[in-house]
Amino acid sequence: MSTTTKRKKKARQKLKELVINRDWCKGCGICVKYCPTQVLELDRRDKVVAERPEDCICCKMCELRCPDLAIEVFTETQESEDNEE
Ligand code: SF4
Ligand code: SF4
Repeated sequence: MSTTTKRKKKARQKLKELVINRDWCKGCGICVKYCPTQVLELDRRDKVVAERPEDCICCKMCELRCPDLAIEVFTETQESEDNEE
């Protein structure tokens, strides 16, 4: 049996910055519910905060679903080489 290692270049989106406008956020929690990886939470003042930005998969659901345009997701493209066996 032989194993071959293929190198594959992949471009993926990486989070650059999650910008939250605290003045516009009304604490409805929609973005918190829609985030598939539980990045967002409401703080004591009912304003959204990015508690776990390292888990963001850049799906932009929070930005798309926020009724008050209070959250914006800025991404950058990252090229990575994956080894496939
Ligand atoms: S959806 Fe918008 S207004 Fe509602 S908690 Fe999230 S950022 Fe705030
Ligand atoms: S872009 Fe997606 S994963 Fe990232 S914080 Fe928004 S909803 Fe969560």
